[in-house]
Amino acid sequence: MDNNKSVALFSKAQHSIPGGVNSPVRAFKSVGGTPLFIKGAEGAYMIDENDNKYIELINSWGPMILGHANPDITAAVQEAVNNSLSFGAPTAKEIDIAELICEMVPSIEKVRMVNSGTEATMSAIRVARGYTGRDKFIKIEGCYHGHGDSFLIAAGSGAVTMGVPNSPGVTEGTAKDTLLAPYNDVEAIEKLVAENKGEVAALIIEPVPGNMGLVIPNEGYLQSLRTICDREGIVLIFDEVMTGFRLAKGGAQEVFGVTPDMTTLGKIIGGGMPVGAYGGKKEIMEYVAPAGPVYQAGTLSGNPVAMAAGLTMLNYLNDHPEVYTELAQKGEKLAQGIKEILDAKQLPYQVTLLGSMICIFFTAEKVENFADAQTTDTEKFGKFFHAMLDNGVYLPPSQYESWFMSVALTEENIDSILKAIDKSLDVAN
Ligand code: PLP
Repeated sequence: MDNNKSVALFSKAQHSIPGGVNSPVRAFKSVGGTPLFIKGAEGAYMIDENDNKYIELINSWGPMILGHANPDITAAVQEAVNNSLSFGAPTAKEIDIAELICEMVPSIEKVRMVNSGTEATMSAIRVARGYTGRDKFIKIEGCYHGHGDSFLIAAGSGAVTMGVPNSPGVTEGTAKDTLLAPYNDVEAIEKLVAENKGEVAALIIEPVPGNMGLVIPNEGYLQSLRTICDREGIVLIFDEVMTGFRLAKGGAQEVFGVTPDMTTLGKIIGGGMPVGAYGGKKEIMEYVAPAGPVYQAGTLSGNPVAMAAGLTMLNYLNDHPEVYTELAQKGEKLAQGIKEILDAKQLPYQVTLLGSMICIFFTAEKVENFADAQTTDTEKFGKFFHAMLDNGVYLPPSQYESWFMSVALTEENIDSILKAIDKSLDVAN
């Protein structure tokens, strides 16, 4: 595979961009080699600057659930662009998208649009603090909630990929209000709550973490969190930036039947444009300015072009629930195929799957939390990743990320991915 154009561009990029990329995980640091510079994408494929074509399972880290260059979304954006790119004043489409979000995710009674998942989580914590009058919050180890200071403590995703789950620049003063517990561990939450009685404003969690690889909640875990939060007056925040509109119309909360007080959204909600949102119970959201005293704002929030893309995406998903059945069938086929390959090769690795999110851990241990995820052999993952590229499949360049499937992925694509996995596991082992 010739990648000389990407090599040249990456070298050039180093001069003007820190590390040559605008988001760390893109740099291939944990898997080695040179990141591919992408010049286009269509359906299930991405094409690099050397015209190599890959079946891809990143999908822009989740948003492109309908595949690349979806004609409806592209047309909506083009139409919106003709009307100017931004007004900084309210528009009718903002009401349409707010109403649709409230309909699709019924725990959300009011919602505020922002520009990224990071903004959504930062704002949700501020509102929970304003609402409860408490300072501390509980975060789960290995969950990633964007790059807000108070979340960069035992954070997954790019932070752990780069080996910096605790970032310099985050002050001790900030870090002291973030309390940590392992995923799938109810006892640990009970202990934190008892030790910090009446001081915990919120518990924020990826209900199904996709940022330490993909990890599935144990039976009853999310419900237990709901019970504890109710008992203690703690705001339960589901960070559904990844899982929202992906696992189901109503996200992980619909799949597991557990209702949070607040939800943060991103990725799919913008149809590929930079959009995030946070919402929840009316009583809590009434604290947000200008309705209430908690300040939060944005020059480009509710941007008309981004809203056109997001609204088209959400309308499609709302009108076509069969998308989720189709994606789950494809996920099942891929996971089953991988398990058969692993069995045939007698490799004790773990496959986790939920709907269209899937991942292989290179470890013999069942993965229930961040500590388990870190028993994975990242060197083997790196070899596997590059062998997959050589076989025409582009995976997320990190062990600590979920793979995302899109509806554009055909049965034949899945067969090709399975063939590539079969060959690449031989290279990695
Ligand atoms: N929350 C979760 C669960 C995420 O996966 C991410 C990003 O990957 C974020 C928050 C931050 O979103 P953004 O990168 O749009 O700021």
